[in-house]
Amino acid sequence: MQSRVLILGAGFGGLELATILSDELGADAGVTLIDGAEEFVFGFSKLDVMFGRASPESVRLPYAAIDKPGVSFRRERITAIDPGRRRVTTEAGVHEAEHLVVALGADYDVEPTPGVVLGENEYYSVAGAERLADVIPGFERGHAVIGVCDAPFKCPPAPSEACLLLHDQLVERGVRDRCEITLVLPLPTPVPPSPATSDALVEAFAERDIRFLPGRRLAAAGDGAIALDDGSELPCDLLLAVPRHRAPDVVGDAGMTEDGYVPVDSRTLRTRYENVYACGDVATVGVPKAGVFAEGAARSIATTLVAALRGAAGDGCYDGLGSCYIEFGGGRVGRVDVDFLSGPKPTGTLQPPSAGLVAEKAEFGASRRARWF
Ligand SMILES: Cc1cc2nc3c(=O)[nH]c(=O)nc-3n(C[C@H](O)[C@H](O)[C@H](O)COP(=O)(O)OP(=O)(O)OC[C@H]3O[C@@H](n4cnc5c(N)ncnc54)[C@H](O)[C@@H]3O)c2cc1C
Repeated sequence: MQSRVLILGAGFGGLELATILSDELGADAGVTLIDGAEEFVFGFSKLDVMFGRASPESVRLPYAAIDKPGVSFRRERITAIDPGRRRVTTEAGVHEAEHLVVALGADYDVEPTPGVVLGENEYYSVAGAERLADVIPGFERGHAVIGVCDAPFKCPPAPSEACLLLHDQLVERGVRDRCEITLVLPLPTPVPPSPATSDALVEAFAERDIRFLPGRRLAAAGDGAIALDDGSELPCDLLLAVPRHRAPDVVGDAGMTEDGYVPVDSRTLRTRYENVYACGDVATVGVPKAGVFAEGAARSIATTLVAALRGAAGDGCYDGLGSCYIEFGGGRVGRVDVDFLSGPKPTGTLQPPSAGLVAEKAEFGASRRARWF
């Protein structure tokens, strides 16, 4: 099958790109959007599911609802990519395109971390969040550990959010004084580009008696204990793990990765292959692995492709800006506005936690849902 634009992966990046191309070019867009999953789930919805704030059914956004001029959605598992020929093989057939965009996200790799099991004691998959939603209400005494296996990982604030929301739940159930909470994070601070955000989170941990172990990784999980990469051990009766990440195997097998991810020009998102782009968690862009950055990079690719498909020249220029909402607990959400590419080093500004930002975060999700589906 021949398309003008073939988008691999219907996550934050792929959905945003397909939507803009459809809005701009209508029926002429000639987009094929491929994803092996049945539905999209926002990353932050996994926290809502894990803490019983949303049902699993309510956060699933089925791809069957996509109905956009010029966009054909295919539910197919991609088995091979030939970037030099812009040729993609799926379980259902072969696709070729004038322009190929790889937006396949990051997969989880639990093999290097004995005892971490997908769908059991991690909350980065939907299955894991659902499973922990059943387990957490039975945790009434002992040691809880939110443990990150390695960096980079999606949404750097998410482990801090898990600690603060777990604290709230234990308080609500009247068992907090019988439980300890520890955060094991490979980063030196919770949100490295924004010292003010990191300070606010560390202060929130201190106020709630949450132990913060920065610069360390979860190395193994066993019965009643976990091991860290510095050789130390911690008691652990409830583990909320963040598994190691890596690009999906199909991308590595295509020879597109270096150091685990697809290298791209940070401004144009072009790979070393002609008319082949990559954005989001699958790529090394110089920004964190988060939906807002995948979406921003997709917008830049859209600018390039709209021009190319109209017969004009000129690349979009990705700005590396993004705003991330952070659950601070107590019914409050903060926001960090970060800038990764304009200066010599990343910077970030904190909008302090408030009830108003809870509504803004809800609108962030609702507006994407309305635009993409
Ligand atoms: C707990 C948690 C909280 C988060 N909170 C936030 C937040 O508040 N804000 C934020 O911006 N980000 C957040 N994130 C991060 C965000 O979810 C990801 O960074 C974002 O989804 C990345 O977008 P993407 O388009 O690169 O990839 P994805 O959204 O992961 O999409 C990739 C798609 O590719 C498909 N795919 C992969 N391999 C294949 C294959 N072989 N064949 C077919 N299809 C395939 C997958 O099914 C998937 O749909 C959070 C993540 C987690 C886990």
